Amino acid sequence: MRNAESLYDLRVDGDRLWRRLEALGEVGAILGPNGERGCARLALTDADREGRDLVVGWMRDLGLAITIDAVGNVVATRAGTDATAAPVMVGSHIDTVRTGGRFDGNLGVLGGLEVMETLEQHGISTRHPISVAFFTDEEGARFQPDMLGSLVYVGGMALEDALDVRAADDNARLGDELARIGYAGPTPCPTATAPHAYVELHIEQGPVLEDEDITIGAVTGVQGISWTELTIVGQSAHAGTTPMRLRHDAGYVAAAITAGVRAIAREMGGTQVATVGRCELLPNLVNVIAAKATMTVDLRNTDEARLEKAEASFHALCDQLAKDEGVTIERRSLARFEPVEFDEGMIKLVQRTAQRLGHSTKMMPSGAGHDAQMLARVCPTSMIFVPSVNGLSHNIAEFTKPADISAGANVLLQVVLAKAMEGAV
Ligand SMILES: [Zn+2]
Repeated sequence: MRNAESLYDLRVDGDRLWRRLEALGEVGAILGPNGERGCARLALTDADREGRDLVVGWMRDLGLAITIDAVGNVVATRAGTDATAAPVMVGSHIDTVRTGGRFDGNLGVLGGLEVMETLEQHGISTRHPISVAFFTDEEGARFQPDMLGSLVYVGGMALEDALDVRAADDNARLGDELARIGYAGPTPCPTATAPHAYVELHIEQGPVLEDEDITIGAVTGVQGISWTELTIVGQSAHAGTTPMRLRHDAGYVAAAITAGVRAIAREMGGTQVATVGRCELLPNLVNVIAAKATMTVDLRNTDEARLEKAEASFHALCDQLAKDEGVTIERRSLARFEPVEFDEGMIKLVQRTAQRLGHSTKMMPSGAGHDAQMLARVCPTSMIFVPSVNGLSHNIAEFTKPADISAGANVLLQVVLAKAMEGAV
């Protein structure tokens, strides 16, 4: 075993990591009008299988012990010197949204792989085993809730319920899709052994780090998330002959809710945000009052009480609009997660490590949901953020500079080493 000082000087191969990001990005690649290169690998589609196969191949090349569990989470482990020690886990997801980028999630997984390869190359053994994981359906773009794989992994959702979830696009059953792509694995889920610690490297997906010219974010926690699907039923009628006062216009109500939740967020201020990301009208014709609208509302806050307040205002708004316009509004919760605070020791370790490596750092909450918030239920957890150019994510123009990718991966390496050497003599 090396002494601690020489381990401090260990660095990842940033070019090798970049090449893997590029290679994985070619799977399900989509091209933008200005030559942007994005990715569409919705969970449990053929493209997801192809991406999984590529990453699993790399895991195998590194001689890692690979397990695939009953919800399709893949965990690859490098043994430690102490057979009784729990693994230090790194990871993220490789599924993307329909018009996603090449970094979201992929960086955490391939960054973890790069850590493994660096240790292997330098012949370094650690006391704790080290695992790199990718979790099923983090994005929730096809199957809801999001972060489904990691939620089941920590026992937050029953396996049977998860397998019965239906796809938003084609109504396919999650369990069937998992089997179809060959990733319904034999390992039980939830996991029997909690990791020693979990750390996830991820792009920020927002503009703060770039705006403040900071390289590494030490993530303090994750905002609470509330997703609701609304089905508004009114009455279709002729757009020319129906007087305004006699309308039951589902399209109008959808628009009023869109404007209304934005006003609620603006009025509350702080970290409160509100978004209507999906809205479909029926019959969706120029001269027909919409009979039906289906839409989603996404509310987030770092504070649970404030999030509940936003939800209450949103529900009151719906009730009022339903009454005024004479429509019915059916509400269905798609996801609801309370805000999560990460482990203080882990947050400080990320910050200290980044500073030691000469990077500017900032403690910040995450605006997006991540697998890390699920792992935080069972072990000390934190995340490492690197800047997103123009703050863009869930967008084919998503980009993070190679130098920032390397910086983040080196922080990941050193944090993993610190945790994996704990208790070593
Ligand atoms: Zn992600």
